[in-house]
Amino acid sequence: MLIYEMKLKGLDDQYGRLDAAIRTGRFIRNSIIRAWIDGEIRGRNDAYKYCKKLSDNKEQFPWVNKLNSMARQAHAERAWFAISRFYDNCKKQIKGKKGFPQFKKYQVRASVEYKTSGWKLSECRKYITFTDKFKAGIFRLWGSRDLHYYQISQINRVRVVRRHDGYYAQFLINHTREEKKDLSNKQSGLDVGLTHFYTDNHGFKVDNPRFLRRDMKRIKKLQRRLSRCEKGSLNRKKARNRLGRAHLSVSRRRNDWACKLARRVIQSNDLVAIENLRVRNMIKNHKLAKSISDAAWSKFREWLEYFGRVYGVPVVAVEPAYTSINCSSCGAKVAKSLSSRTHQCGCGLVLDRDENAAINILQAALKKLSTTVGQTESNDSGEFDLCCGQETASSKSSRRKSKPNQ
Ligand SMILES: [Zn+2]
Repeated sequence: MLIYEMKLKGLDDQYGRLDAAIRTGRFIRNSIIRAWIDGEIRGRNDAYKYCKKLSDNKEQFPWVNKLNSMARQAHAERAWFAISRFYDNCKKQIKGKKGFPQFKKYQVRASVEYKTSGWKLSECRKYITFTDKFKAGIFRLWGSRDLHYYQISQINRVRVVRRHDGYYAQFLINHTREEKKDLSNKQSGLDVGLTHFYTDNHGFKVDNPRFLRRDMKRIKKLQRRLSRCEKGSLNRKKARNRLGRAHLSVSRRRNDWACKLARRVIQSNDLVAIENLRVRNMIKNHKLAKSISDAAWSKFREWLEYFGRVYGVPVVAVEPAYTSINCSSCGAKVAKSLSSRTHQCGCGLVLDRDENAAINILQAALKKLSTTVGQTESNDSGEFDLCCGQETASSKSSRRKSKPNQ
């Protein structure tokens, strides 16, 4: 799945009509969640039926019918997705909040989703027309992407996204991107940190992008300015818009940076091992919050996994237990405080703290792969017992011996 995004250029009146469509999508979603809470909806089909009931009720809710029918369905699906995710979390008995479906409030950042109807691209693919009863009309598509390369039938969905700096159309294109890559004979484990964005098992370090820090300063200033404005005033609206744009530019830059870095990492490795960090848990620790969100780690990870699929490079996430404490050479536990930057073990290994962790991460990933890939063979074949004597025992010990030489 590819997503191309282009800005929509139109008139104020047209944007107002898009707003109405976005509002309607939200109305459908919230109504279905309301009905679910009231016990009227028990399954996905009920959600569809309820959606139809809303659009048929032209006297009470005349606006629902104006939205394209498949778009109405898409928003019923969104509501059901939120409900089923809650059910799943309950079933899995995860601790803490289960994500009870919330009603969506008005937000500037919002979207309405069309499927394969309700819109039409022009012959030259530079204009899009929204054809449902909101009559938003023709918009010019503004962006660097070229839609000519794909068939119209490959466009599964068109999403209209409202942001602080305007309206965008996202095209969800059914296309699997695959690219060739030469073997690099290199495998990397990455350890994420706060002093450096990551350190790999070869000792290579990537610094945190400093520009994000600078942007944070600007955002703080705009935030203060917003809080000084009187509520409901025009100045407050302007200040909120400025703040929203600043946030946008930070997230765009962060995304761009993470994307380029991830592509480089994938292109120069045959396997990448990372820690399965739960960023949400870490953000609870308030002091770290900014640095971590700055660190853009989760975006980077998303891109790693994406490019991993594109180039056929496995990206293995391992549980982060003890990766910085264990010695990568002998396996002993060497406790250290956050501030000590070197790993110094009784076995004689002295290594940068993060580099040691990166080696542990890569080793854990290889172990994980070897158990998941090799399992069926060892269980199915009786012959495997033949080589379980001396051979494996000696190879194990020789592997252990060879490590300190690395
Ligand atoms: Zn050691």
